[in-house]
Amino acid sequence: MLRVGLTGGIGSGKSEVSALLAGHGAVVIDYDQLAREVVEHGSPALAEIARRFGDDILTADGALDRPALGAIVFNDPESLRTLEAITHPAIRALAAEREASAGPDAIVVHDNALLVEMGQHTSCDAVIVVDVPQEVQIERLAARGMAAAEARARITNQTSRQSRTGVADFIIDNTGSLDGLAHIVGGLWARLVGLRG
Ligand code: ADP
Repeated sequence: MLRVGLTGGIGSGKSEVSALLAGHGAVVIDYDQLAREVVEHGSPALAEIARRFGDDILTADGALDRPALGAIVFNDPESLRTLEAITHPAIRALAAEREASAGPDAIVVHDNALLVEMGQHTSCDAVIVVDVPQEVQIERLAARGMAAAEARARITNQTSRQSRTGVADFIIDNTGSLDGLAHIVGGLWARLVGLRG
């Protein structure tokens, strides 16, 4: 098995790369999906979050009220750390479970916007970082309907571009076209297959 980490800032094109890798046969573990699963209705993590933050972060039917929790943690690093201390171990455990069910020849891609923040890059055989300048991130997020101010705030809240590229084995420059990206990922896939042996 080859364990690959995939990360990039919001709007960098990480999801496009993830889909392309899946098309080549990678087993993709989507951490956005895991992050939703660990706080599902009735989960131990959700119960712990409600214990720490109060029942106001639950909807009337007991599910997570994302906007309510977001409003607490978005501008409060300490609350965010408290939340992540609950969710990140649960996410890591679920990722390990998914990875264990992939075959021995699998190329497993950990598609994780927080790969570096969670320290997951250290356990990967290869780390791919999708990289574009901030103006391109903002432009592409705008095309998806996000206001520039919100895009900027989200980018500022993430780890720096340098902290990602600094741990990369492969940096994908995604300033070109989507066709160009597909071509780059095709070449990268061949290298991953070579690494897996
Ligand atoms: P991320 O997962 O990193 O947040 P996405 O893969 O969702 O980013 O890409 C953000 C937006 O930019 C999407 O609408 C996507 O289709 C578009 N996009 C990604 N790469 C390119 C590219 N090379 N050229 C044009 N648009 C792109």
